[in-house]
Amino acid sequence: MKFIFDFDDVLFDTKKLKENIFRCLGEISISKNTEEKYYEEFKSMGTPFSLKEFLSSLLTRENKKKDTTEDIYEKIMSLSLNLANTELLKIIKKLGKKNCYIVTSGDEEFQLDKIRRSNIDDYFCEILVAPHSKKGIIEKICKENKGEQIIFVDDKIKFFEDLDMTKCPNLKTILFDENGFEKLSSVL
Ligand SMILES: [Mg+2]
Repeated sequence: MKFIFDFDDVLFDTKKLKENIFRCLGEISISKNTEEKYYEEFKSMGTPFSLKEFLSSLLTRENKKKDTTEDIYEKIMSLSLNLANTELLKIIKKLGKKNCYIVTSGDEEFQLDKIRRSNIDDYFCEILVAPHSKKGIIEKICKENKGEQIIFVDDKIKFFEDLDMTKCPNLKTILFDENGFEKLSSVL
């Protein structure tokens, strides 16, 4: 059996990271309201989310020239250590590195930086970043492991909805919601 894990809100407490973004921007007098409004606008541009690009764009807009993007980014990221889901990692350790993948969506540099700083690289045989849809990567893993059951764990149903299940007959999806642990435990 092979296991594919999403990163944000599954392996990592992304809500805490978002709180740290609010906190650090609050310290330089950018309100949560301004930040949230701009976040929606930035996301609607459709490019994979990069925290550095978001900060750079927001700071320029808010005339915060004295505060460099790099400093704020470092501050946010240094407050965001130890946000890995340790309960889930205990299970993953037992499943074995050769059976576990991370498939995450977003800006490659930002996703890999969060993963690197979480110190979880060693638990996974492959870490793959998709800019938007995970479809191609998931279907490829299913094809490469035809004889095995593949379990794909994600907190967002949209990443299941665009899969061509005829191309992945060996795939089972698990929505990682408040019952995510129970659902995962039941297939082990
Ligand atoms: Mg997620």
